[in-house]
Amino acid sequence: KRTGGNRASFYNEIERNSWSRDRIRLEAELKNALLRDEIAIVFQPKVNCETTQVVGAEVLARWNHPERGMIAPGGFIDVAEESGLINRLGDRVLELACQQGRIWLDEGMRMPLAVNVSIRQLEKPGFDRRVLDILEHTGFPADQLQLEVTETVAMADPDRVAAVTKPLLDAGITFAIDDFGTGYSSLAILQRLPFNTFKIDRSFVWGIGEDQHSDSIVQTILAMAESLNYEVVAEGVETEEQRDFLRNNGCSTAQGFLFARPMPAAHFDAWLERHASW
Ligand code: C2E
Ligand code: CA
Ligand code: CA
Ligand code: CA
Repeated sequence: KRTGGNRASFYNEIERNSWSRDRIRLEAELKNALLRDEIAIVFQPKVNCETTQVVGAEVLARWNHPERGMIAPGGFIDVAEESGLINRLGDRVLELACQQGRIWLDEGMRMPLAVNVSIRQLEKPGFDRRVLDILEHTGFPADQLQLEVTETVAMADPDRVAAVTKPLLDAGITFAIDDFGTGYSSLAILQRLPFNTFKIDRSFVWGIGEDQHSDSIVQTILAMAESLNYEVVAEGVETEEQRDFLRNNGCSTAQGFLFARPMPAAHFDAWLERHASW
């Protein structure tokens, strides 16, 4: 028994060490990636459930790794958050987004953009100033920018969050609660935070028509949003059944593979042209 236990802890130790070595290597690589400009962004359209008209796009980070190719955020956002690199990464993503948004505007296309922001960024002093600086030097209008923050933001200090977001709200930026329904925040706290949009987490969307619970949760979120005067975006919409259910229950906006996968800007342009003739 004892040796067994020791052996288990020995292997746990090895595992932990190689895990932390991987982490350290990844962190160093990510630092380099920022210097070498390997961070890229893709765009996923948000469409009106009723008309399928495109109402904006969510911006998603990618790491264009010289050897490993395009890496999805699941492979680096955690490390970025834990190491603090998320601040530089987030600034870069926002800058790239606003640059592209400005290019589209100059081409005569208005495309509101939603950019993901980690709570670590919001809590870092000067965040508001940096966002406003980026808007100013790229010339992207504040009222076409939405920042998406996961529901865990409600577990942060609400007064602090309110203080950082105030100048941004005053400038016309809006805020969305991402992955809504997966956190443990109380509605009382959410109400004190400056959000005007719920993004229904895709786990609930995927349960539509599959389990009664998800149907009810989605309907409840939609009803609540309606009475509290929030906008709603359903994420992860993959089937027509999900889209129809959402539309029939008053959801205004949807996003998901049913409409389009996230795409680089050039593909997004081409997709929009095809989409316009749907
Ligand atoms: P999220 O904000 O919930 O973004 C939606 C994720 O769902 C994206 O994954 C998107 O590609 C994926 N998705 C969209 N529609 C569908 C669908 O119909 N089916 C399926 N299976 N998936 C769908 P992605 O790009 O891998 O991003 C994962 C997460 O990484 C994001 O989840 C977000 O939390 C985080 N993230 C991405 N970019 C950034 C960023 O610039 N900053 C921060 N802080 N986090 C980011
Ligand atoms: Ca998001
Ligand atoms: Ca989400
Ligand atoms: Ca998510």
